Parts: sequence; C-alpha cells; structure tokens
Amino acid sequence: MNATDDWYDIDRLSDHSYRLTEGGVFGTFLIVGDERALQVDAGGGFGDLRGAVDGLVEVPVSLLLTHSHWDHMGAAHQFESVRIHDRERTADGRVTTDVVTDEFGYGPADFIADWKAAGESFPDGFDAETFEIPPAAGVEAAEPGETVDLGGRELELVGVPGHSPGQLAVLDRADGVLYGADLLHRDHDLYIHFEGCDIHEYVETLRRVRDLHEAGAFDTLHVSHAHTLSGEELGLVDDYLEGLQAILDGERGYELTEEEPQARRYEVAGHAVLTKPDVV
Ligand SMILES: [Zn+2]
Repeated sequence: MNATDDWYDIDRLSDHSYRLTEGGVFGTFLIVGDERALQVDAGGGFGDLRGAVDGLVEVPVSLLLTHSHWDHMGAAHQFESVRIHDRERTADGRVTTDVVTDEFGYGPADFIADWKAAGESFPDGFDAETFEIPPAAGVEAAEPGETVDLGGRELELVGVPGHSPGQLAVLDRADGVLYGADLLHRDHDLYIHFEGCDIHEYVETLRRVRDLHEAGAFDTLHVSHAHTLSGEELGLVDDYLEGLQAILDGERGYELTEEEPQARRYEVAGHAVLTKPDVV
C-alpha cells in the first residue's frame, strides 16, 4: 500500500462507482463509463487525489466540482479538465477557496489541527506548516440540465443552489442514484448562513429534488459529509422543504448564534438550520 492508498478511504459503491473519502469526512465520488470517468469533487486537497483516481480507472478522467467551497475544490489543481457552474468561478476561469465565500467556521487549518490532535498522520510529502489550497485555473462552465456522456453511462447535472449559488448535483438515472454534494446531511447542521447561500433558492432546490424522487429518478442520495440516504430516509428532503418554508413564513422560533458569521439557529426535523440573521 502506498501513501495515496492509505490517505483516501476508497469504497466501491457499484461495479462502476466509488466513494473516496479524505480525513474521514470529505467525501468525493468517481463514476466510470466505458470511455471516460467523472470525478465529482476534490475534497480538501491534503493528498494526491489524482493519483488515487488514476489507480482506479484506465479511461481519461475529468473533474466536476459541485461547488467552490474549500472542502470540495482542494485537489482541483491536480486535474487538467475541470468544470463548475459559472456562478462558482471567476471571470477568468479560476476557482479559489474564496471565489464565493471564505467565511467558513472551519477551514483547512482547523482540520489540520484536529487531525494532528487526534494523533493521525498525513500523506507522505504533506507539510502542515506551508499547506495552502492552490487555485485551479482554466476551469470551464458546467450547466444544470446538461448530459455528461461517459460512454455506456449518461449522467445529468441538476441545479441544486441554496447552500452555494451554483451547486450542482449529478443524477445517474440508470442506477437511481443522485450525488447531492452538500444538499443535506443526516445528523449534521444545515448551513444557509454563508455569503452566497439563499434560502429561497434552497426551497426551490428541495422541491426539485423531491419531484425527481417522487418521479422515480433516484432512490439513493450520496452526500459529501455523511452517510448515504435511501428509501424512507429520503423523507428528510420533505422535512427540510416543509421546515424552510415555515421559516420563510415566520412560523418558527429561533436563537441568534454567538459565532461569526452571525446566524439564526432554527430546528427542523431534529437538525439545526443556520440562516442569515435577516432571513425574514
Ligand atoms: Zn459546501
């Protein structure tokens, strides 16, 4: 086993898809067709994601970033072919850690400190003192509604803005799987309080995802930072839809949080929902 294999936890999801998880928490996905493969997201970039992916497939791989948050674009600079929604890149085609926002409560330095404190080791060649996420350049635009043909496997890009202005999900109708990025997570707060977040767009997104589910387009939802949801667990989509609508209708109580950026903290379906202080 080399350092790359050690760093990423690689789970085979099917005979043509994998989950590669970094640091136990930053999930990315690899979907393989007959002629091409699509890597969905790039994690925090602490390891050699490109090497790990190349060790799994023989066909050319391109990278789709679901959105530009640092824990999704970290290793993007390792790939030649990178795409993202236009609202998540700069005018000159770059994706940087702050292209939409850098006001995260938890950044790369926090992860490094926690990982060290837990007594865990980093990949060979990693230098915690100098680590910075490099920008990715030459990033092209990806559009919701687009079909991505991998050869014998067609994927559809679905717009799921709200958490981030141009967030994209990837739908594999043949498998009944939606790769939903940061759409929602079980046992995890829902963040709608960062710059670029929009609760109105979030409600539209949840409606779109619910409709796709009800139409039978998928019954498995892979997400970036928690376990996969399927079957009845997907009721969480309806719970959030109802909860966010109730927040917008002023029907829910909240507390103001202490941390920056300041947020309203609501509770929906047993989960905390953080919104901007002026949400309604
Ligand atoms: Zn995110």
